[in-house]
Amino acid sequence: MPLPAYHPLMPPSAALLDQLAAVTGPAGVVRDAADQAPYLKEWRDRYTGMAALVLRPNTTAQVSEILRLCNAARVGVVPQGGNTGLVGGQIPFESGTEIVLSTTRLNRIRSVDRSGGSLIAEAGATLAAVQNTASDAGLLFPLSMASEGSCTIGGNLATNAGGIAVVAYGTARRQVLGLEVVLADGRVIDGLTALEKDNTGYDLKDLMIGSEGTLGVITAAALRLVPRPVETATAFVSCPSMDALSKVFTETKARAGTLLTAFEFMSARAVEFAAQHVKTARVPLPLGSPVYALIELSAPVAGMAQPMLESLLSEASDTERVSGAVIAATGTQSAELWRLREQMSEIQKFEGGSIKHDIALPISEIPRFLTDAEAIVARVCPGARPVPFGHFGDGNIHYNVSQPPGMDRQVYLALWDPMSRAVHDLVDARGGSISAEHGIGRMKRDELRRLKSPAELDLMRGIKAAFDPNGILNPGKLL
Ligand code: FAD
Repeated sequence: MPLPAYHPLMPPSAALLDQLAAVTGPAGVVRDAADQAPYLKEWRDRYTGMAALVLRPNTTAQVSEILRLCNAARVGVVPQGGNTGLVGGQIPFESGTEIVLSTTRLNRIRSVDRSGGSLIAEAGATLAAVQNTASDAGLLFPLSMASEGSCTIGGNLATNAGGIAVVAYGTARRQVLGLEVVLADGRVIDGLTALEKDNTGYDLKDLMIGSEGTLGVITAAALRLVPRPVETATAFVSCPSMDALSKVFTETKARAGTLLTAFEFMSARAVEFAAQHVKTARVPLPLGSPVYALIELSAPVAGMAQPMLESLLSEASDTERVSGAVIAATGTQSAELWRLREQMSEIQKFEGGSIKHDIALPISEIPRFLTDAEAIVARVCPGARPVPFGHFGDGNIHYNVSQPPGMDRQVYLALWDPMSRAVHDLVDARGGSISAEHGIGRMKRDELRRLKSPAELDLMRGIKAAFDPNGILNPGKLL
């Protein structure tokens, strides 16, 4: 059954806008167009919207009252955290009739339970603030990504974010013990339990995680903390082929087990771009290898990670699966290696337009996928340059494709939909997913409709209708 097209809801009346402004008080209201601009435009410049009002509540009670009023008046609400999302989910549509609800003032750490290994953070706390609080308590909050200084824990959970340590610790979902959520009609679900076990029916918390602001507004989360590793060893390696890299991953995973905390891969072109454009770190191996990896092991006791990494790489070198390797001798060197990896996405700006795909595949399929995708991309745009990199250990590839040198940027970007459709068809045929960690938002909504089964779409629509019967929460996103 086809899904209905997106229609804007009701424009808010002047009286409603005054009522909403009164809920937060002047400190939580952004009316001026220039002040609203940062909330209306996304990081990659792909979407720019308009809002009737931007509100910045700083208590759960204020969020509840805002939703109650908007639900009664059938006015759309777009939840927003740090505005680092990459699929346009946090940006209102161009109609100017929606309210942006920013959580950035709802940012307290409510409590830390060191002995129980958990903390409660409000949704607008940045990921870095949560990591730092855990670290101050001698523990680790293992979610980690390049946007961690700006993205919020609410946004991380709403998108079920991934990042660089998923291979060891899992996605955002696995870090959650409980949630406090405000429903579309303003009712508050207080699920801030720190219980490891709770089998009392459907898991509403797990439905909320990854729902991209379409089922409720997350206002706080009880998060699991884990022991902080005592020793970390980081290596940058080159491999003669994707198959060789894949074997290095399999061997490392088998031998290091839970000590393996990151296995990131970078194509030759991605590393060439880094060598040209990253000013703050140098590529430590010669250019020209077909593929590179960044490998990190972390251990609970000293003297374990470094010798194990050395032994693994020495064996991989003997069997010619690794052609070159450097192991960071200091924390500074390790940070420099990570800087190369973290800037992979940003540096593509220097090479003109980039068409991006955040995909997941069974790990064994990745080498064949990369070969076949290159041919598919060349058919859509001869001369386009694939720049794949990503979280190999999770089967998550950022299959970004830079424009041919000299081509007009806008002409190239006009090929976004045909290129994405062709790449996604291949992903689908290989048993993969068209969104590994960024979500669906506005960008992939049509692709979700095209590729998800009708039965799954029907269930999703039923869930949406149960949580948000008037469709006021992030209308036109995801579904
Ligand atoms: P926003 O962008 O503000 O919102 C994202 C979505 O969540 C929207 O649909 C919004 O409506 C919804 N939302 C936000 N807050 C709430 C709330 N409290 N309740 C309900 N819904 C809410 N992502 C990864 O997964 N892994 C990476 O490695 C990674 N690296 C990145 C690197 C860079 C440089 C950048 C710019 C982004 C990266 N991202 C990555 C994407 C992004 O940082 C994540 O999706 C992040 O989780 C979004 O958090 P945010 O607070 O910025 O959310």
